[in-house]
Amino acid sequence: MSEAVKIKPDLQFVKELQSVGGETLKKCYQCATCSVACPLSPPENPFPRKEMIWAQWGMKDRLVNNIDVWLCHNCQTCSDLCPRGARPGDLLAAIRNMTYRKLVPPVAIGEWMSSPKYLPILMGIPAALYLLIWIIRAGILGSFFPLEDGHVVYGHLFPGDFTIDPIFGLVAVFVAYSFYKGVMTMWNSFKTLPETFVVGEKKEKTPILQCLVDVVKEEIATHAKWNDCGNDNTERYIGHLSLLYGFVALFIVTSVVAVSHWGGKIFHFLAPLGHTPMSLISPVKLLANVGAILLLVGLTYLTRRRVNADPSKSASSYYDWYLLGVIWGVALTGIGSEIFRLASVPQIAYPVYYLHLISVFMLIAYLPWSKLGHLVYRTTALVYARHSGRVPLKTEEDKIFIV
Ligand code: SF4
Ligand code: SF4
Repeated sequence: MSEAVKIKPDLQFVKELQSVGGETLKKCYQCATCSVACPLSPPENPFPRKEMIWAQWGMKDRLVNNIDVWLCHNCQTCSDLCPRGARPGDLLAAIRNMTYRKLVPPVAIGEWMSSPKYLPILMGIPAALYLLIWIIRAGILGSFFPLEDGHVVYGHLFPGDFTIDPIFGLVAVFVAYSFYKGVMTMWNSFKTLPETFVVGEKKEKTPILQCLVDVVKEEIATHAKWNDCGNDNTERYIGHLSLLYGFVALFIVTSVVAVSHWGGKIFHFLAPLGHTPMSLISPVKLLANVGAILLLVGLTYLTRRRVNADPSKSASSYYDWYLLGVIWGVALTGIGSEIFRLASVPQIAYPVYYLHLISVFMLIAYLPWSKLGHLVYRTTALVYARHSGRVPLKTEEDKIFIV
């Protein structure tokens, strides 16, 4: 005789889920079309049908520790085929948004990242900080828009050694520690997954390092997994990869500048490359410009895709627009800072650079609570999925759907 299980729904959780992108979850009538159609769903306990019912029933514990929401690449094949317009792809994205909100302390930042009404706080913190520096330096230099030998030199107003570098150094430590906490929390929660999540008879665990290398090679560097999706993802694919490599280029540039300056004698050989302001033909400057162009290409593709999306199949949440908005801010103010510096127009160059500092701060300091945090969290989940045996099978013939 089967045993009755009493479910205690968390109705507040359902409401929160609806507010971060899962507003159509109640439309699902459990036909399982989505689980059958999903090209990435494993045969044992396939997704996203089970997540739809867990969400309807407010089963928070099952959803927040669920590794499957990270296996989904949001291709929207399931949402296109859902006969009820329940948008299961958006539901999985909403669960990921909930994770960004609550995974690591201070959860107040997660709360601020979830609604436009908190945008003044998120912008206000760096705006006040850099304005204070600007006012103090302007008082010392006797001008709000100083020139050095007729040129705009940002380091003159915002000295790297005393303002930019210490602030971003502390931010980097804070972000790295927050990600460490988030990754450990996720990893430990995945360990509570039931055995039925494991595909086949997997007794030997694949070494974590090997899983990490495979994930970076097969999923991140090439986005090859997206080819398994049935839908045409060309626009999203180009947009994602352009952004990824744009950020990689800018990360290399920032690292060269930082290491050449702070790395002491060991990295002294980098000094000619990392000295700022750079000549336009410096290889590091050329790489920075390539990175900026890649960001613009990626942003254009991804923004156009969201603007043209059919709202009955896929709706964009505030998390999507916040991230796109901040990256647009970083890219446009970065390019503007360079143009107005070269044109020696201090009255425009300094305000644009000030906005650039605010945008970069908003991108980096709140990273563990933003959608861009998926770079770390999804990688963690994909590594665990391979390590534990919770990985999609390669061929259609191997798929046995248990619903
Ligand atoms: S296809 Fe739609 S209605 Fe059917 S189970 Fe999936 S979400 Fe529910
Ligand atoms: S969005 Fe794509 S990957 Fe995600 S559940 Fe739906 S079909 Fe699967």
